[in-house]
Amino acid sequence: MTAPTASVRDRVRSLPSESLPAYVYDLAALRGHAASVRSALPRSIELYYAAKANPEPEILCALAPYVDGYDVSSGGELAHVRKAVPGRPLAFGGPGKTPAEIDTALDLGVERFHVESLYELRMLAQLASRRSRDTPLGVLLRFNLPLAEGSLEASALSMGGRPTPFGLDPAQADQAVRMLTDGTSARLELLGVHTHLASGLNAPQQLAAAESVVAWTVDLGARHGIRLREVNVGGGMTVDYAAPRTRFDWAAYGAGLGALAAAHPGLTLRIEPGRALSAYCGWYATEVLDVKPSHGEEFAVVRGGTHHLRTPATKGHDQPCTVLPVHAWPHPWPRSEARREQVTVAGQLCTPKDVLARGVPAAGLRAGDRVVFALAGAYAWNISHHDFLMHPRPGFHFLDA
Ligand SMILES: *Cc1c(COP(=O)(O)O)cnc(C)c1O
Repeated sequence: MTAPTASVRDRVRSLPSESLPAYVYDLAALRGHAASVRSALPRSIELYYAAKANPEPEILCALAPYVDGYDVSSGGELAHVRKAVPGRPLAFGGPGKTPAEIDTALDLGVERFHVESLYELRMLAQLASRRSRDTPLGVLLRFNLPLAEGSLEASALSMGGRPTPFGLDPAQADQAVRMLTDGTSARLELLGVHTHLASGLNAPQQLAAAESVVAWTVDLGARHGIRLREVNVGGGMTVDYAAPRTRFDWAAYGAGLGALAAAHPGLTLRIEPGRALSAYCGWYATEVLDVKPSHGEEFAVVRGGTHHLRTPATKGHDQPCTVLPVHAWPHPWPRSEARREQVTVAGQLCTPKDVLARGVPAAGLRAGDRVVFALAGAYAWNISHHDFLMHPRPGFHFLDA
């Protein structure tokens, strides 16, 4: 269990039932966490935030002092992030960019393109050639690299080294580099290589991946007699929902990246985590509506559910949570109450998949008690199917003290 911070707990206790469920973000905790991540990384390592993990403007702004830029993955994110944190460097990635999105990116002066295919490269070269710009447009080629590390097999969301729609096949590397260096794409400047190979890697796995990506990039540059100046090794730093107090080892990763950068003078290393930056600052707070037995188990049904917090359903875990007992009971009817030691916490949806957490130790849990789910600051509200069953939307609270 990860207990909510004092300010989150106070806010959750102070909200009337009808104001639940609610997302409560502790921006002070977010700043503290981001500062510790930043200080674990050598100054030369660039840190971008992958906005898709949680693009709330308050989150983007709170992170601004600690990040070097933002990674955006659609025209929508592009416009949104540009507005929320104007003037901050953006890298535009993602498969299936449309011509209109690329035009928007050019209008908004995006600093870097992460190109995902040869077709996209041709389209970008054409669209960029129609513009008058003083400086060429920075391009990083995203590659789906075959990392035979073994380490990547442990990862749940691996997207590198096997067939996926992400990035260029490494067999296309030479052709892609030639297209950018033979003078036909004068408005584009090849800066380097981008990868994002898996999600859920620990620090040694991330470091092994970064080392092999850098070695591959150096080799690619040498084959073409060019200097590739940037390598973005992506995000995917693990967040352990089963052991929420265990954190990604930023100190070890930072030290390893520092050594890697020192071994390659003139090469800028960049990372772009999402989940591991914002997950810890968010809580989804709700209220127990009913507690009941079912075939030898017990269920607590709460306001809201996986249409607000889809994370446990998509990742197949139990979302860590804390019970805040409530003593006042305003109704004339008796409260339903748990008889067993453990309950399954389910939402209000008419589907057996609407389960937030199983095996929650909650002896004596009663209707009216509050439950606060931790690690709800990334891939939570923004990946959820909000409109299924037409329940009201949660409130949003950004605590900044
Ligand atoms: C999703 C994504 C990230 C962030 O991944 P996390 O697991 O949230 O750290 C970074 N880069 C790319 C290209 C992505 O698609």
